[in-house]
Amino acid sequence: MGGRLALRHVVTGRTGGGRSTNVNAEATVAEAMAEPRLVEDYHTETAHKRRFPSSVEIWDETLRDGEQAPGVHFTPEEKLRVAELLSEMGVSVLNAGIPVVSEEEARAVHRVAHAGLKAKVLAAARTVPRDVDAVITSGATHIAIFVAASQVHLKYKLKMTEDEVLQASVDSVRRAKEAGLHVAYVTEDTVRAPFPFVERLYRAVQEAGADRLVVADTVGIMTPLTFRWFLKEFILRVQPKDLSVHCHNDFGLATANTLTAVEVGARAPQVCVNGLGERAGNASFEEVVLVLESLYQVKTGIRTERIHELSRLVEELSGVPVAANKALVGYNAFSHEAGIHTHGILAHTLTYEPIQPEIVGRHRQMILGKHTGKAAIVEKLKERGLTAPDAILIELLERVKTETESRSKSDLQRFLHEYRTLFERPGLSDEEFWTMVEAVGLRTAKT
Ligand code: MN
Repeated sequence: MGGRLALRHVVTGRTGGGRSTNVNAEATVAEAMAEPRLVEDYHTETAHKRRFPSSVEIWDETLRDGEQAPGVHFTPEEKLRVAELLSEMGVSVLNAGIPVVSEEEARAVHRVAHAGLKAKVLAAARTVPRDVDAVITSGATHIAIFVAASQVHLKYKLKMTEDEVLQASVDSVRRAKEAGLHVAYVTEDTVRAPFPFVERLYRAVQEAGADRLVVADTVGIMTPLTFRWFLKEFILRVQPKDLSVHCHNDFGLATANTLTAVEVGARAPQVCVNGLGERAGNASFEEVVLVLESLYQVKTGIRTERIHELSRLVEELSGVPVAANKALVGYNAFSHEAGIHTHGILAHTLTYEPIQPEIVGRHRQMILGKHTGKAAIVEKLKERGLTAPDAILIELLERVKTETESRSKSDLQRFLHEYRTLFERPGLSDEEFWTMVEAVGLRTAKT
């Protein structure tokens, strides 16, 4: 195990624009094997403490929870495009949506379900018969039946008792099972519900035929330590045949919590491309997959080299820009500007890169700017077969620094202003809404 990570870096070491560099990058496998280990991989030291399932199935929620991100809407054609790519990339199961939401949504789920995808197509339903029936008629082979579990949801949102929730759940699971569907049962806010109820509810639905149980941290308040405790307790008390988790990112812990769950035994973690989803979003597809594949060597079946393409597609269709510093898929994730860093990268990519950009279908970028060093200038000149004496290099470097330091930020600021205007209020504007209100015959008191 030791050195496996290092080996991959050495063998495939490349720099900017996918061009090979002369240093270390051309090493053959044999040379690399002969080279002493360049970085220690302490993941191997803790490997005996981890208990990952032998195979992890990625359950993608981009077209359902991802679409529930503020202002996001996918057409049936767009859902199909994303679903096709997810399927080609090796996603095990994908949630196409909630067919009862609208006619267009039902059409979308129907199209995805009938596209002959390799991935299993799932659609979601509340614990009401017409929701379950809508999934049955959609042609999806998998269903996720969901209802809330915490007292705050029962008392104020659902206005249902625990017994009513349990009965509706059991009835819905039976209804879907009778139609031959693979049934996943989800409760919203599982981790803020009283454990005796969680236990009773999940045991009942499993007895009624639910194939997979999903624990959801709907408002993202778990931490890895607490979630580990909760899931271990859940496994002990409920004994799920198959476990999945759904983690939100309100405190930035969705990926960490999801990984904790996989370690504890959740075989089918739910993720969203670019971490899209309600509020701060869900566990990010790319982060969960890459940690499993690259840091822990756990197979997810995902063709990671298409992750950038997938991220771009979802960004384009959702209209939600990926943050520049977003792990793995953000613009800056494989860019280097600081002199010390570029120098290191040019000497050996392992110095400042934990994985090769090509693994997620990207290329490294050297940025010329205020923090640039001489090594980057030397490397850049090579692109046109040029070399230069030190004095010229220093002069060039000065010019690069002065130019970037004096450059106006107005383009970026204009873009930011536009971005803020668009994102401060996604969806309909007040004006559009009040016009609609008047169109349906209501008189409004103008403010
Ligand atoms: Mn959610």
